[in-house]
Amino acid sequence: MFKKFIRKSRIKSPWLLHYDCSSCNGCDIEVLACLTPVYDIERFGIINVGNPFHADILLVTGTVNLRNRKVLVNLFDQMPNPKVVVAIGSCALSGGIFRETYNVLGGVDKVIPVDVYVPGCPAKPEAIIDGVVMGLDKFMDEKAEEKSHAGRGDSRQS
Ligand code: SF4
Repeated sequence: MFKKFIRKSRIKSPWLLHYDCSSCNGCDIEVLACLTPVYDIERFGIINVGNPFHADILLVTGTVNLRNRKVLVNLFDQMPNPKVVVAIGSCALSGGIFRETYNVLGGVDKVIPVDVYVPGCPAKPEAIIDGVVMGLDKFMDEKAEEKSHAGRGDSRQS
């Protein structure tokens, strides 16, 4: 019963954590635009938080490189299960225009599991909001919750 209550709360009011791996800031500005009065995601109960222990959904922009990989994995591990990861923009999906750079590992899914991919350079605010809503499906799936409690995913192996 308590689990059901938590699950419903997460669906009704998911809390987001945004981490910029190493973007050009184009996608970050679009994430911030979602918080402004124009898009106003708070009216849907979606709140931006700064603490991974409080977050349900991790929004990641930019490319993963040798320096930020560990930070990304730590943030992911600190979030409670079940958690959703949304990769935003071409850089987060594949490395984008920085793909061939000497220290770039590629997209976010090279180090942590990604649930939703939002393409674009930059990704549009409407698409980012859609991505967050798509991610909520994971909280509706009770079996996914049990699975995520059983294991921590593959982040530790990276
Ligand atoms: S996808 Fe485009 S806009 Fe977004 S961080 Fe990469 S280069 Fe910048």
